[in-house]
Amino acid sequence: MASTRKEINDCVTGILQSLKINSLPVRIEDIAKSMGLQVISYPFTEDISGTLIVQNNIGIIGFNQFESKVRRRFTIAHELGHFMLHRDYSDIFLDKQYNAHVKNDENVKQYFRVNNPNETITSQALEQQANAFAAAILMPEELLRNQVAIIDFDFGSEEAIKYLARIFDVSTQAMSYRLANLGIFDF
Ligand SMILES: [Zn+2]
Repeated sequence: MASTRKEINDCVTGILQSLKINSLPVRIEDIAKSMGLQVISYPFTEDISGTLIVQNNIGIIGFNQFESKVRRRFTIAHELGHFMLHRDYSDIFLDKQYNAHVKNDENVKQYFRVNNPNETITSQALEQQANAFAAAILMPEELLRNQVAIIDFDFGSEEAIKYLARIFDVSTQAMSYRLANLGIFDF
């Protein structure tokens, strides 16, 4: 289930279409629940953003109740991404601040091996894919382009990024990355 960007986008598009999601902000907790997952707030310590546990093909998402709303939304989307894309690799995903430490530390890099014995994937790759999934589902490309088209102040200004972030209920950083990745605006 290693996923290319196109596969991730197709997966997200399928979810958005089947649930007829066309209003903002995207109600990510409702989406996860309507897909059969449980979503539970939890008093994690501050280094843990979220978890995904898979039992009998049912996903349970835990998110840190002390983090900001935009962080909690991103965590739920990220864990849903692990469920949709990666549940063949592991039954438990533990996300420590989006694994910033994993990205930078070869010593803690884990390798997952699945059905195909020749295929391995690093936890870093899984995290990047889950983040791509989260960005795509929280800031659907079509809905984002629609908003950008009707924006009524200097596009690319800090003010515009903040406005878009508010509409989609994401962090300004997540919005900046998304706009850059879509080639709409390179901040
Ligand atoms: Zn993760």
